[in-house]
Amino acid sequence: MAEEPAGEEIAALAQSLRRHLERRQRAGIRVLSKEQPDKVVNARVAVDQQISAGAKGDLAIDPSPPPSANNLEELRAEIGDCRRCKLCAGRTHIVFGIGNPHARLMFVGEGPGRDEDIQGEPFVGRAGQLLNDIITKGMGLRREDVYIANVVKCRPPDNRNPEPDEVAACEPFLKKQIDLVRPEVIVGLGKFAVQTLMQSKVPISKLRGTWHHYHGIKLMPTFHPAYLLRNPADKKLVWEDIKKVIQELRGENN
Ligand code: URA
Repeated sequence: MAEEPAGEEIAALAQSLRRHLERRQRAGIRVLSKEQPDKVVNARVAVDQQISAGAKGDLAIDPSPPPSANNLEELRAEIGDCRRCKLCAGRTHIVFGIGNPHARLMFVGEGPGRDEDIQGEPFVGRAGQLLNDIITKGMGLRREDVYIANVVKCRPPDNRNPEPDEVAACEPFLKKQIDLVRPEVIVGLGKFAVQTLMQSKVPISKLRGTWHHYHGIKLMPTFHPAYLLRNPADKKLVWEDIKKVIQELRGENN
């Protein structure tokens, strides 16, 4: 399996460290030493208070410590009755993810919509029906053969895009899910999921259809099924992308 080039990986690490330090700074955490632990605790309490007060904007939450779960059940338990961001206020269910915990193929979407929020399962609405068709009719697989997850696990109000603080709070759980399932291929569904996974602002129309990498896992960006419901003419482009995924899983790209 192809690895990310070392230079790119170091640059990504440096960028991630810079963002982490900026988040700490914004949260008022300036001291890491054991001598002043109360400052750290006070800063985290202040962040928690802003979240429960419904703070808006680019308030990124420092999600430390990272999830330590050894399997998906433990990870779900670690998420618990999550209050890490303001999306908790409007949700009915946390939509964790579903499917084969050892799937070779994983789909990553943006976040739950109304149907998913009600049922507690990803991609069960109209877009989900289309994703099911892609999986079953297009790929000849069953929904339970793959793993399906979202960037954020609670429904954003009125289906708006998740905000940066919400992504920051939830992304460690997606990363851990990917780490635990360790699929061979990830299909990123739509602009938001793909740009989050790739830490990129490049339009989905430019990214789709070519192979990228997410921490050494092959990533195929494609259009979101909800977009296809509005733009059915682009289904043929998604089919092109999915054919590449099928070939990869059959080992025909080697
Ligand atoms: N759209 C998404 O991105 N995810 C879902 O689970 C449902 C719709």
